[in-house]
Amino acid sequence: MRLARFRTDKRDCIGLVTDGAVIDVGAAIPSLPVDMVQVLEAGDVWFDRIAGARDRAPALDLAEVELLSPVACPRKVLGIGLNYRAHAAEGGAAVPEVQFWFNKQNSCINGPYAPVHMPKVSSYLDYEGELVVVIGRRARHVSRERALDHVAGYMVGNDVSVRDWQRRSPTTTLGKSFDTHGPIGPWITTSDEIPDPGALQLRTWVNGEQRQATSTADLVFSVPEMIEHLSTAFTLEPGDLLFTGTPDGVGLLMKPPRFLKVGDRVRVEIEGLGAIENEVVAEP
Ligand code: ZN
Repeated sequence: MRLARFRTDKRDCIGLVTDGAVIDVGAAIPSLPVDMVQVLEAGDVWFDRIAGARDRAPALDLAEVELLSPVACPRKVLGIGLNYRAHAAEGGAAVPEVQFWFNKQNSCINGPYAPVHMPKVSSYLDYEGELVVVIGRRARHVSRERALDHVAGYMVGNDVSVRDWQRRSPTTTLGKSFDTHGPIGPWITTSDEIPDPGALQLRTWVNGEQRQATSTADLVFSVPEMIEHLSTAFTLEPGDLLFTGTPDGVGLLMKPPRFLKVGDRVRVEIEGLGAIENEVVAEP
């Protein structure tokens, strides 16, 4: 299933995406929550009802609706650094032996096609195309062998980064958390359709120029290893998002660096998951 959130002129809804259409399953199930976290918490209960409503709910043209971030307000948004060998190498860093995690504040979450702000305080804006894991079932002390049982699905994400703010303090929290700097989507592809998250092609373009192209097979730490490691420390909850790291080709590490400018369009596409595309606009 491909689960989206979308906006009509009347309301925000959860929908089921099929070829070229979004099925307004909420119109057939009035009790369906509009909050994806609540849907994910109930897991198979809502998934089964959503799938069952497919044939009796109205279908809308996908091009006619505004797609929103599939999860509006995740409890946690975590990102891992230096998780592709070639990205570590391009920055002159060693491949990490221990997973290096940071927080993105959940207020940075943004829609799949919504504008991204060029901050008033920086011009060092950069993209990071990434596979995003959506947690489905609570996970605490979960082994890597069982880890994927706790994944609801996968999305495309851009871990937008303000490089000067990221680098001038011991933690990267501020530089990773500006408002609008967490575009995700275009929908959640449920994990039953993605048997191996470690075998997906990921590509990033800026204004049509390809900047990143790799496979998630090159991840240093796999999705199961990430869930095992994180859940050793704390509980992963339904709707939590894991940004799984970016490959080589970020603007910061080009020679010379090429940061984003107002008007640039960044597109990130992952095999089987769709694409997100966001234009850089001046922070209002
Ligand atoms: Zn990142």
